[in-house]
Amino acid sequence: MEKLKELAIIVPCYNEEEILPKSIKTLIALRENLIKKELIAKTSKLVFINDGSKDATWNIITKEHQKNPFIKGISFSRNFGHQAALLAGMYNTDADIYITIDADLQDDPKVIEDMIKCCYEGYEVVYGVRKHRDTDSFFKRNTALLFYKLMKILGVELVANHADFRLLSRRAVEAMSKFTEKNLFLRAIVPLIGFKSCNVYYDRQKRTAGTTKYPLKKMVLFALKGISSFSTVPLHLITLFGVLISVVSFFLMLWTICAYFNGSTIVGWASLMSVITFFSGITILFMGIIGEYIASIFVEVKNRPTYIIDETLD
Ligand code: UDP
Ligand code: MG
Repeated sequence: MEKLKELAIIVPCYNEEEILPKSIKTLIALRENLIKKELIAKTSKLVFINDGSKDATWNIITKEHQKNPFIKGISFSRNFGHQAALLAGMYNTDADIYITIDADLQDDPKVIEDMIKCCYEGYEVVYGVRKHRDTDSFFKRNTALLFYKLMKILGVELVANHADFRLLSRRAVEAMSKFTEKNLFLRAIVPLIGFKSCNVYYDRQKRTAGTTKYPLKKMVLFALKGISSFSTVPLHLITLFGVLISVVSFFLMLWTICAYFNGSTIVGWASLMSVITFFSGITILFMGIIGEYIASIFVEVKNRPTYIIDETLD
């Protein structure tokens, strides 16, 4: 029989004291069950990344590590964000396969078994995909739908209804580490790695304790980052619009000259005002879009560290 693979379950945690004890219990039971079923090696581990929490999250992780040596911990020096925590977990843990899952276990841990089975069949990337979005609010459901549609138009390959619940093989993680970008939007980077991939489907639960760490503002900024670091289509659209307006302006200019020689150029305040306000708006909007890209370049050029580790429990 093939050698059992060593699994690392990577769990980012930001102020999760309310839900973490329960989630740890669930994951310990899950790990034991998978070992019993001879799906993973006995050395498989659970890795919790404390992303600069201000509550007792790190204390909980430390205590669990003392009780169970297969529980590992990484603590950041401050809050670096969910995506950075996922990377730190994968890049600082030795394993054959990695599964990332949120600390609230809203993404059904039961399908982890299916993910691992896919991996034995030769898939190196397994996406956790939500069957429905009925546990989301009307607003979140529809904005998400709009976002996936928009990204498709913009030419960014995303797996719809997949967030950061996925399995990656060691080879896939090594390949991902070659993407050194600082604007992290992992769900768009993973399809760029290539390798054989498949989906497993699950129902996402409601959060049972604690509150979301992704309020609307953070979500919008994350979506913008996803666009400006993966698609240049908005920039091309600006150029296209510029060409269109230039053509129209040229004919408008001809018309203006004719009107001048006809001696009918006195009235026109309203039309002039409309044109000025419309184009002022468009100009500022387009400058803003270009600004988004400059901001992305700014972040990349500075090349600051993605995360800084304060403490590890190994
Ligand atoms: N998270 C993190 N750093 C942050 C924000 C969130 O590590 O700055 C973690 C959080 O602890 C959770 C996961 O990212 O494990 C997803 O967050 P949450 O469940 O609040 O997002 P939602 O499910 O509401 O989109
Ligand atoms: Mg959640």
